[in-house]
Parts: sequence; structure tokens; C-alpha cells
Amino acid sequence: MSSSVSLEDIVSLCKRRGFVFQSSEIYGGLAGFYDYGPLGVELVNNLKQAWWTAMVREHDNVFGVDGAIIQNPKLWEASGHIAGFTDPLVDCKNCGARHRADHLAGTDSTDLNELKELLKDKTCPTCGKKTLMEPRRYNMMMKTWVGPVEDESAVAYLRPETAGSIFTNYENVRETMRAKVPFGIAQIGKAFRNEISPRDFIFRVRELEQMEMQYFINPDMQQEAYESWREFAWSFLTERLGIKPENLQWHEHDEKERAHYAAAAHDIYFKFPQGFKELWGTHNRTDFDLSNHARVSGKDLSYFDESTRERFIPYVIESSVGVGRMLMTVLTDAYTVDEINGEQRVVLKLRPALAPYRAAVSPLLKNKPELVAKAQEVYAALKKTFGNVMWDDNGNIGKRYRRQDEIGTPYCVTVDFQTLEDDTVTVRDRDTAQQTRVKLTELPLQLV
Ligand code: ATP
Repeated sequence: MSSSVSLEDIVSLCKRRGFVFQSSEIYGGLAGFYDYGPLGVELVNNLKQAWWTAMVREHDNVFGVDGAIIQNPKLWEASGHIAGFTDPLVDCKNCGARHRADHLAGTDSTDLNELKELLKDKTCPTCGKKTLMEPRRYNMMMKTWVGPVEDESAVAYLRPETAGSIFTNYENVRETMRAKVPFGIAQIGKAFRNEISPRDFIFRVRELEQMEMQYFINPDMQQEAYESWREFAWSFLTERLGIKPENLQWHEHDEKERAHYAAAAHDIYFKFPQGFKELWGTHNRTDFDLSNHARVSGKDLSYFDESTRERFIPYVIESSVGVGRMLMTVLTDAYTVDEINGEQRVVLKLRPALAPYRAAVSPLLKNKPELVAKAQEVYAALKKTFGNVMWDDNGNIGKRYRRQDEIGTPYCVTVDFQTLEDDTVTVRDRDTAQQTRVKLTELPLQLV
């Protein structure tokens, strides 16, 4: 069952079946970068679609944007990232290895004095010597140059979070959509963090994708909005994605753990193979962002509420989750080993709407042209309805079922000799392994 899934199980499934590959693998890869394969990209797109539907399309007052990855560097000065987007780092004097000080100390705190104390007697995990230096701060922003001259004036940053261009578009969205506070702006996109020690497969990477929403509110409603976006995250995971609640838990940040902009922060932790770790954060960013962008840009970002005749800088409640961590969550939660007719199998019990393929269509025998022709007809019709349908005539039928179970395909449709007589097919259910005969006219309804 999923509680005993190891990281190796997930990594191996991802590689074997085409979910995730190491980036530039033929050159030895690059630490902290991964590529999604044919099945991974389908699953990721389904996850993003589910989030976008729940977050944007089902809320009258949440609007989408898609901002550029590179923005004017003043944005990151105002947001505090140039000065404060840091992780504690510890160097080893003997071997030169660098480690995340908080991870090595086994704490959530990023307080340098506390870390120094906790690391006093620790040895370097790379060389085993007691030669760790004092912990210090390290900025995770990735730098580049814009234009032909590579000097300080041309420095720009790859965004460390998608939130930045949401804040700079606050006025544009408010005006063009005639939005009234409270309203939200959502974005899905890449972000870059020069993590000291990328690890645990796609859990901690240097190029990540985030799904973020910033909700602009009157400060009076911060508690209520904060609670409702916490609730949104939890119910999205359990109800839309079907994640088992026992694999989730809340984690509240204390003062030492909170990001430089947050007044309150609650993360949902998921039971990843390496233990309970952060999946989704809900943060109260107060008026930190809009105040600072107003100060640095010189633009007035205050809001006038006509109903109360009040002017204020909106507070922001942020909901932020990583796409890769969500992919790892659904794979880990769905990964099941069970027994069918005395034979062990690996089955991914994904919700049908998330599965890379909705169904696989096979002729019972690949060397009978009449079965193949009929199966091709069924396949073409289903592909027209669902799009993500696979043709699978490789190996015997048992092997096909195993293969489809492992990639989470909810239904296997088989065309046999009876199909030629009465236009019925067998539909095998992934989770129960039960087969039922279904009329072709009713088939699409059976696969929903
Ligand atoms: P962590 O404490 O794990 O470094 P964080 O608190 O810095 O994460 P946020 O800045 O709140 O994370 O980012 C929002 C979300 O983006 C996280 O909840 C996580 O799902 C995802 N995320 C953040 N950093 C990474 C990373 N390096 N690799 C993959 N996903 C990440």
C-alpha cells in the first residue's frame, strides 16, 4: 500500500513508464533539473487543469494572468527577495561540500544562532569530519543578463516565485476586469531557485513550476479569508484529487520559520516516501507586497472602497503549491501493490480525470485482421470523445492489463470474436480487475 512506497519505487516507475526523466540525461544530467515524459506531461496538464478550474473558473472573482519569467529587477528589490530570499548554508572546511544548515540540524528554524548551536557537534555528511564552518545566509535567486553587455546594470533574475508579476499586475487586472476587493489573481508558471542541495527526486528542484493565487482583501477580513483558502487547499487535495486524508497534515510556521513577508503561514504536509513534508502553503502576506511596490515604483496602489468610503492598501492571502510536488503526491498516494488471482501487481489508483490515459483499446488477438479492424474502429471513436486513449496490442492480454494498471489507466477495452457478432466489448476495471460486457453504443458513458 502507499504507506510503504519507497522513493526508489516512484523514481523507477517514473523512468520506466515515461513520467519523468533526468534532464539532459545523455550528458549525465544536471542536479535539480528534470524533464517530464509523455505520461508525466499528461498527468501534469490534468493537475494544472483541475487546479485552474477550481481556482479560476469556479470563482467569479479570481482572474488568471501569465507573466514573464524575467521582470524588471526593481520588482525583486521591492519584494525583499534580493535582500532576503535566503536559506541558511554551512560549508565544510575540509572537503568544501555545502549543505542546508537547517536540514543538517534537523530543524525548521532558520535562525543562525540556533543553527550554530545545533550544528556544534555535527560532522560533514560528505567527508565525515567535524569541520563544519559557521552557518551563513545564501541567496537563491538565479541571475542572468539582459542585452549584449554583461555588467551590473544588465543583471536580471529568473523569478523565484510567480507571485511577483501578480502584484505588478494588480492595478491592470483590477481596472480591466472592473474588480472590487476582495478579488484574486492566479498564475501557473515556472520559477527558479538555486537550491543548495536539490534532492528527493522532483521534490526539491532548481527549476520548478508553481500554481499561485494572491487574494486581495480588506485587512478586516484577513482571518476569514485565510481560513477559507486553507480549507480550499485541503478540500482540493482530498475531494478533487482523492488524496487520502491520513496522508496529509497541517503544519503551522512559527516565527523563526516564516518567510520574510508572512504574518501567518500554514502548510499542508504530505506523507512523501521520505516522510511528511511541505506540499502547499497558505500565507498571510499582509500589505507587505503592495506597500513595498508602491514605495519603490512611486505608484499609488491603495484601494478606495466606495461602499465604506474607506481607503486602504489591500492585504494579501496567498495560496501556493508546486506542480512537481503535486505530481509526486498523487503518484505516491495512488501507488498500490496488491494481488490479483494470486499474482502481485503494481497499480496506480488515480482518479480517471487525472490518469494520463482514460482507456486502452486492444484486439484480443493481434494476428486476426477482422478483430484488429473492429478494434481500430472502437479506438478511433473513443479517441474522438476522450482524446487520451491508447492503442495497445503488445504482448498477451494479461501483460497489457499489468502495463495499463501500472500507469493508472482506469479502463481496458477489448474487442473479441463476440464483438463481431453483437457489437459488445469487454471493459476491465483497473481497481477491481472485474470485466463487464458493454454495448458499443453505451461505451463512452461507461468510461466517464
Ligand atoms: P521549502 O520550505 O520546501 O523550501 P518554501 O516554503 O520555500 O518551500 P514557498 O516559497 O512557500 O516554499 O513555495 C510554494 C510552493 O512551491 C511550496 O509549497 C512547494 O510546493 C513549491 N516549492 C518551493 N520550492 C520548491 C523546490 N525547490 N522544488 C519543488 N517545489 C518547490
